[in-house]
Amino acid sequence: MEGARRCKYRAEYYDFEAEELREWECDMPALPGREYCLFHDPEYWREHPEEVREAFYERVREAMASEESAYFIGYHLPRVDLRELGEDVVFRGPVYFNEAVFHEDASFLGASFSGPTSFNRAKFLGDAIFIATKFSKDARFDGASFSEHVIFIDVVFSYASFNHARFSREARFFSVEFLKGADLISCVFAGPTIFSHVRFPPNARLENLVISGRTVFSNTYLPSILDDPLDLESRLCLRYIVFDGGGKLIFSKTNMDRVSFMFADLSRVEFWDVRWWEYKGSFMPIDAMIVLIKTNDKIARQYKEMARKDIRDREERHLTPQSELLRLPDDPDLTLENVLQEIRLLKNLAISMGRYEEAAKFHIAEMEVRRLAGPEAKERHVEWPPKGRLDRLRERAGSWLERRLLWLYKATCLYGESLARPVAWLLAIWLLFGFIYAFSGLIAVPGLATALQLLAEGLAFSGSVVVLMLLLRAAPVVAAWGYIAWAEGALALLIYAVFLPTIMRRIWRLVRA
Ligand SMILES: [Zn+2]
Repeated sequence: MEGARRCKYRAEYYDFEAEELREWECDMPALPGREYCLFHDPEYWREHPEEVREAFYERVREAMASEESAYFIGYHLPRVDLRELGEDVVFRGPVYFNEAVFHEDASFLGASFSGPTSFNRAKFLGDAIFIATKFSKDARFDGASFSEHVIFIDVVFSYASFNHARFSREARFFSVEFLKGADLISCVFAGPTIFSHVRFPPNARLENLVISGRTVFSNTYLPSILDDPLDLESRLCLRYIVFDGGGKLIFSKTNMDRVSFMFADLSRVEFWDVRWWEYKGSFMPIDAMIVLIKTNDKIARQYKEMARKDIRDREERHLTPQSELLRLPDDPDLTLENVLQEIRLLKNLAISMGRYEEAAKFHIAEMEVRRLAGPEAKERHVEWPPKGRLDRLRERAGSWLERRLLWLYKATCLYGESLARPVAWLLAIWLLFGFIYAFSGLIAVPGLATALQLLAEGLAFSGSVVVLMLLLRAAPVVAAWGYIAWAEGALALLIYAVFLPTIMRRIWRLVRA
């Protein structure tokens, strides 16, 4: 009598075809004297591993023969290796391994999943091996847990999600390709994790990760802005990453164009030979560019022109034509304060790692964003908008003045990063005023006292007087040219004022290095 009883296993699962939650019931007979079948009994796999394995392989063969859904929901399996079927494993319909427990090693080497596949909340208690495995439709590993080693090598995913998945030991993703999408949200990487030669799509999401081991992205292909400059919507956001214990995130030989570090804890992030997006001499994070385009019409025009020209060049080279519309994300966190914080943290990180040249490029980006972010932008100080007319007026005046000063700072010394600029300015001032003095016709032969006085004045303000005096053995009648001499002095003083900190900064970096 008991042998005729059905296994009482049932579980809710998300059905890919019906696109809704459904209940699945096992239709296998229960084991004699037990409540579950040989797949669902939590102990039977341990007592009769061969029997369970062979029965599982038989179920896989049945699944391969039809395009119907294959259900392995909640199975308790011993070591399984699909190569042991002795034929190419191709699942033609949807496959459900939801909540399956792989008690020992599980190998899906060479298997192909033509339909959508779910490993949601599956437990891999032994090694999980996916080598040369192909997922042609969605592959979901949401809530899956991997207790031992995990290997994904030469795997092609269409869209894959690993949301809330937990990797407790070493995880390796080598030469893995995500063609349409990859979501790794709230994923836990507790052991050493490496993504090497992995190709992420532009819309990949790696948010809320918990990292407590060394996680390396090396030679990983993250899409660049130049691939499609009009698409600024696609970003790889690394928000709210939590680092536990010795957790560390390392990027090496990777393109950082579309990576957003807003709200990421950069104290545990390292960059080794990564490529940042160079925009007009600065390392401009994509978030900052978006804020500039959104708040400054002139920048938006310039950027669109540049992008379209780039796309036309590409089309001439017969590459894929792309849409002509500029796409921007609708992200309320993209405010001036947030992007300035992001740039400053990146700058400080570069300084702390002794990468001063990179820090300089982030510094230029920071200043450019401050100078160019539109004044009319409501996004400017979203969290503490000015209250009342006086406050608004004060903010406007302050921002107007700040922008003029920043313009001057850039023109004279590229925000303290260029030594050549102030030197060129000094030479230009000396030449200009030198010529004015020389060709004014108001030159007198100086006495010694006048010469000394001019020398002193020259050192204090400018060299042109001294230089020309020595060249021509004559000095201008300074009194007659009082205003011009004062103008020269003032200009030269301004240049000295920016030249001094610029050179100090250089020396400081040299000394620290
Ligand atoms: Zn069952």
